[in-house]
Amino acid sequence: MSKSKGYAAVTAKAPLAPYSFERREPREHDVVIEIRYCGICHSDIHQATDGWSDYQEESIFPMAPGHEITGAVTAVGGKVTKHKVGDKVGVGCFVDSCRTCTECRRGLEQYCTVHTVWTYNGREHDGTPTYGGYSDRIVVDENYVLRMPDNLPLEACAPLLCAGITLYSPLRHWHAGPGKKVAIVGLGGLGHMGVKLAHALGAEVTVLSQSLKKQADGKRLGADHFYATSDAETFTKLKGSFDLVINTVSAQIDWSEYLNLLKVDGTMVVVGLPEKDIPVGAFALTAGRRSLAGSQIGGIGETQEMLDFCSQHGVACDIEVIPIQKVNEAYERVLKSDVRYRFVIDMATL
Ligand code: NAP
Ligand code: ZN
Ligand code: ZN
Repeated sequence: MSKSKGYAAVTAKAPLAPYSFERREPREHDVVIEIRYCGICHSDIHQATDGWSDYQEESIFPMAPGHEITGAVTAVGGKVTKHKVGDKVGVGCFVDSCRTCTECRRGLEQYCTVHTVWTYNGREHDGTPTYGGYSDRIVVDENYVLRMPDNLPLEACAPLLCAGITLYSPLRHWHAGPGKKVAIVGLGGLGHMGVKLAHALGAEVTVLSQSLKKQADGKRLGADHFYATSDAETFTKLKGSFDLVINTVSAQIDWSEYLNLLKVDGTMVVVGLPEKDIPVGAFALTAGRRSLAGSQIGGIGETQEMLDFCSQHGVACDIEVIPIQKVNEAYERVLKSDVRYRFVIDMATL
């Protein structure tokens, strides 16, 4: 074991503070990564405050969050073939899975039916708690480590590892592309990547935001249209408009209202994870043979595909780099939807 330092919440809702813990010695297939940058995902806040307690086993504290990790390889185990010392690499939301269930074998490790090892607030197969990317280094099996694009800044690519793949996967699965009308609900970390990726895939993109404050940004990011959901007329005007609505909102909103914006046979994909249940009206579904679906990040293979797509299309995230000492302040701003459009911690400040 060797010492690692980072920032952690000691109990639910406690502010994040400096914290030291142990990382395992690299095994034969392990890669040791010096963490340079880590994005702040809204999921970090839900978990550090134990906000998903209705749906999950109790969170594990102390908790060092962070699952949008980029850095450089500093050492490798004897049997590692996929990465070498000095490579620019990334780690996303999980660091292992069972590898043998049907979903793992299909490359859908995020839906492993046995045990996905989450990057933090999770347990290794032997029960050891995991600690995330708000820290100086991490030890990960080579099969769960991604190659980062060479032509894009490492800090602007960190949020691709969660926000990027969480939007890329449903956009691909539900065939966003030329001739398709896609709405992205919520222009935060996930939403802004949804706009960039849907635009790069050739879809006609509409942003549905609480107000028009972010309209100029939305257009710059690639949106063709921008509407405020605080204006009731938006819902009348856009009724029956979209093939695909991707809902990234972290809070409880009326899903039925958004289902009504779908064309016949359209799909609303929920990726936002509010802390309480949301009731849905049957008529919003039956009226247009509509579907309500969900999606969770993406597998390792698809995440690499997304990184390669971003490299080819020059797509990275719009970020605000912060020193780790400002992490609690950043959480407050995320909760106020005051983020343009992802906070990324510069780990050199640790
Ligand atoms: P974020 O940066 O805070 O963005 C969420 C956006 O939702 C805000 O910017 C805001 O956009 C909108 N919003 C917030 N509160 C709202 C309210 N009360 N009513 C209407 N709109 C509201 O968060 P994020 O990091 O993108 O994450 C979004 C959600 O996705 C979180 O719940 C997170 O846990 C979840 N998530 C899921 C996955 C997955 O695999 N499914 C992966 C990562 C994250 P406007 O200002 O434009 O209205
Ligand atoms: Zn995330
Ligand atoms: Zn599995």
